Order: sequence, then structure tokens, then C-alpha cells
Amino acid sequence: MPDRRGLLIILSSPSGAGKSTLSRRLRDWDPTISFSVSATTRAPRAGEVDGRDYHFLTEAGFKREVADGGMLEHAHVFGNFYGSPKGPVETAIDGGADVLFDVDWQGAQQIQNSSLGQHTLSIFILPPSIDELHRRLKTRGQDSAEVIAKRMQKSWDEISHWAEYDYVLINDDLDETEARLKSIVTAARLKRIQQPWLNEHVKQLHAEFEEMT
Ligand code: ADP
Ligand code: 5GP
Repeated sequence: MPDRRGLLIILSSPSGAGKSTLSRRLRDWDPTISFSVSATTRAPRAGEVDGRDYHFLTEAGFKREVADGGMLEHAHVFGNFYGSPKGPVETAIDGGADVLFDVDWQGAQQIQNSSLGQHTLSIFILPPSIDELHRRLKTRGQDSAEVIAKRMQKSWDEISHWAEYDYVLINDDLDETEARLKSIVTAARLKRIQQPWLNEHVKQLHAEFEEMT
């Protein structure tokens, strides 16, 4: 038996608040954390690789996966379908490895309410201000002015769900936010439910105790 069960770590934020940057830093810190590669019906962006960034599916293929029960959660975001395939998550957490999810609030709600809900750790990332959020979206230089405007418009919808998460981080100073994120993950890994082997350990302690008395 692995020495612990894996966690489903959910990171959500309005686009531009720093979720991808923090996900990357968390996985650099502990490369055993795997990333849940979502499925989507949107077209790949320049540089995106099928199977690494997303599993790019047709709408019919996506709907078939959902009907077959293959998605842990799914949602309609910015006019496209997105979902998290279930199989790789179950394999990872049973083997004691954490899985990181970059999903919106709809995905977070569904994962928290799923059969794996008790093993989730949900974290919401807030920007220090709306001006700064806008600045980060512009300096990232990935999207057109039109797409940035759309993301800014959607940001309040995402922020309005902040209170549904276990933890909330204001991503002002990046290094400080990273340190807090690591502390949260370290603590969640020590939750009793994440350490099923404890029963055996306590049984062993009991046997030793009985022997001594
Ligand atoms: P998201 O994944 O939430 O859309 P990103 O991680 O891509 O956001 O971050 C958006 C931009 O803001 C990137 O250019 C990133 O380098 C920058 N960024 C992230 N966190 C901070 C921070 N704490 N301070 C300043 N810039 C940041
Ligand atoms: P993008 O198209 O920019 O990669 O992602 C757009 C939005 O879709 C982001 O807010 C992201 O969190 C969300 N998203 C990506 N993958 C999933 C997923 O598997 N499920 C859900 N519910 N949302 C997702």
C-alpha cells in the first residue's frame, strides 16, 4: 500500500491571476504531482500539443465520453466544452500521487461533489486588484485585445465563486503566494483520510502497548 492517498488539488482563478504560473511552480517543487490533462472541443492554440496541453476532441467525441461516464466533471466555458477524464485521476490517487486540476468554478464544484470529493483540496487565487489582473493579461501577450476583453468580462463570474473553496490566496507577491501554496499542500497531505495506513500503524502501537503492560 502506498504511504498515503493522492489528493485532487484544484486551482481556480479568473484568467490572468497566476494559476498557470503557480501550477508550474508547484510541480517544479514536487514533480510527482501530475497534471490532469483536460479534454476540450476548442481549437488548439499555436504551440499547444494534443495529449500534453489538452486532449482535443470533436463535439461528438466529447459528448460520447461524457455519456460513457468517462469524465469526472465537464462544463461549457467561453463557448466550448471542457472536461477532466476520470481514469488517469483514479490511477494516480490510488497509487499515492497527487493530481493538479486547472478547472473553472463549475469543474471545482463537480469534483468536490463527486465520489472523490473527500480527497480534494480546493484553492482559489485572487488578483490583488482588477487593474493588476488586466495588466497581467496584457503583459502575458498570449491573447488578442478582443479575447482579453472577453476574459476580463468573465472574471467577475469566476471571482464571485471564491467562497466555495477551502483556501483563498491573494497572488500579490509571487514568491510569497508560492510558499503559502506549498504549505497548504503539505498540510492537506497529512489529513487522516489521506493516510489509510494509519489504522495498521495504530494497531501495531496497540499490540506493543499490550505487550508492555
Ligand atoms: P492564469 O493561468 O491564471 O491565466 P498566468 O499564470 O498565465 O495566469 O499569469 C498571467 C501573467 O501574470 C503571466 O505573465 C505571469 O507571469 C504573471 N504573473 C503571475 N503571477 C504574478 C505575480 N504574483 N506578480 C506579477 N506577475 C504575475
Ligand atoms: P483555456 O481555453 O484558456 O485553456 O481555458 C479556458 C477556461 O476553461 C479556464 O477558465 C479553465 O480553467 C477552464 N478549463 C480548462 N480545462 C477545464 C476542465 O477540464 N474543466 C472545466 N470545468 N474547466 C476547464
